[in-house]
Amino acid sequence: TYTILNGTLIDRSEAKVDIEDRGYQFGDGVYEVIRVYNGKMFTIKEHLARFEKSSESIGITLPYSTEQLSEMLEELVGKNRLHTGIVYMQVTRGVAPRNHSFPAKEVVPALTAYTKELPRPAENLKNGVKTILTEDIRWLRCDIKSLNLLGSILAKQQAAEKGCFEAILHRGQDVTEGSSTNIFIVKNGVIITHQSDNLILKGITKDVVLQVCAANNISVKEQTFTLDELAAADEVFLSSTTGEVMPIIEVAGKKVGNGVPGPLTSRLQDLFTQEIEKQCGE
Ligand code: PLP
Repeated sequence: TYTILNGTLIDRSEAKVDIEDRGYQFGDGVYEVIRVYNGKMFTIKEHLARFEKSSESIGITLPYSTEQLSEMLEELVGKNRLHTGIVYMQVTRGVAPRNHSFPAKEVVPALTAYTKELPRPAENLKNGVKTILTEDIRWLRCDIKSLNLLGSILAKQQAAEKGCFEAILHRGQDVTEGSSTNIFIVKNGVIITHQSDNLILKGITKDVVLQVCAANNISVKEQTFTLDELAAADEVFLSSTTGEVMPIIEVAGKKVGNGVPGPLTSRLQDLFTQEIEKQCGE
């Protein structure tokens, strides 16, 4: 398959990065994961806008405009004949002798992108997934889609060791988000999800869910909710690019409701699938 390395499409086996790339040494960069359905990128504009915003917030100026990036990624998806999968893209501050402070201005950011086949998670979408709870030990700029993912990795590993799909993170009593997903609860027909501030990533999928709710008169509150509210919720679900709108049927060994996906979650799944069809349908 093809890969993008600094603006050029090359064979995956030829794409090599330097050991002094700041992404490799410091995690000094940002990334995006974009869904591809039916050979078309879903919410590409939103992902590229977030990519640019993340980059700028850490002082990396992207070497390409979002229009150029969009064209490059489209070519990549096309040449790789990707039908259902993802595009992964990252930019780092570039290659320079190791030193915490930024390198000289001449050092160009290193951009890479590749595709991967990935089916929609049909089984989990239908049956729901189990989760654990763990303290959110990440930094205070979780709104940046940083390559530094240690807090998330350690949390996800804890979940995996317990046979769970996701770790729900909380700062004290307040639930923030999942290790790689946004978290929603439903109580008496109202959806609640953490406001998009510095403590969570403003998920593109979350935003699609919010838009779909607004368009269908489903009430949503974007505000912090607690562990107690989570435990008392009628329904719980997560959202992410790869996971879409996925029911959560268990939190820390305790069933959510009756332990089966709830009606509002199912309705949102249908509405989300309609959005996919609108953008990526035949
Ligand atoms: N929160 C975190 C910490 C994430 O890493 C992700 C995505 O991977 C999300 C939320 C969901 O964001 P999106 O819907 O844009 O994939």
